[in-house]
Parts: sequence; structure tokens; C-alpha cells
Amino acid sequence: METRKPLGYWSSQWSYRQAINEDRSDLEDTELTVEKLQGRVKRLTEDMLLLRATLMAVVDVLHAKAPFDEAELAEATATALAALRAGHAAATAVCDKCKQTVAMASATVTLDGVFCTSCAG
Ligand SMILES: [Zn+2]
Repeated sequence: METRKPLGYWSSQWSYRQAINEDRSDLEDTELTVEKLQGRVKRLTEDMLLLRATLMAVVDVLHAKAPFDEAELAEATATALAALRAGHAAATAVCDKCKQTVAMASATVTLDGVFCTSCAG
């Protein structure tokens, strides 16, 4: 959303009315976006919970079937996490506005697309 200069006292009522209506429209758009994001965060949170529960169940079942060393699991998890983080750090994205290729870690992901720092700001 662009920043508007405040209206001076010399502005006509029409200017005020137009600015207020535009602001209301921007606010409604922002509220819709926030609602969508809240819905998405809620779904992702549920997905994460299900994923954690599934993983805990897999570890429990595996432990019951063939006991294994917890330290070995922790080490394998740390190795997998490091590999995923390295992959994420190396990942790139193309800005939907200026088409510049940027590091995914610095890109801003919105419902309208992926944007570089310059275009997102
Ligand atoms: Zn851009």
C-alpha cells in the first residue's frame, strides 16, 4: 500500500471524500489479505501438528519393532536438518514484478506472488 501525503486544510471536501474512500478500499483489501493469511497459518499449523504426530508415531512404532539408539536418531536428524537448511539457503526465486532472480531466503512470499526486497518494500 502506498503512503499518501496528509491532506492540508486547503483541500476540498471532495478530495477528503475521495481519499477516505480510497483508504477504506485499501483497508478492506488489507483485511481480506490478513484473513487469507490467518487461514493459511491456521491450516499450516494443523499440518505441522499432524506431521509431528505422525513422526512421533513412526518413531514409537519403530522403537517397538527394533529398538535403536536415540543419539543416533538425533544425529541423523541434525544432519538432515543441515542439508535442508543448506538447500533452502541455496534456493532462488524469480521476482514476479521485476523478474530478477533473488535468494529465496530474502524473497517476500505473498498471496499475490513472490517479490524481491525492492519490489516488496
Ligand atoms: Zn522485484
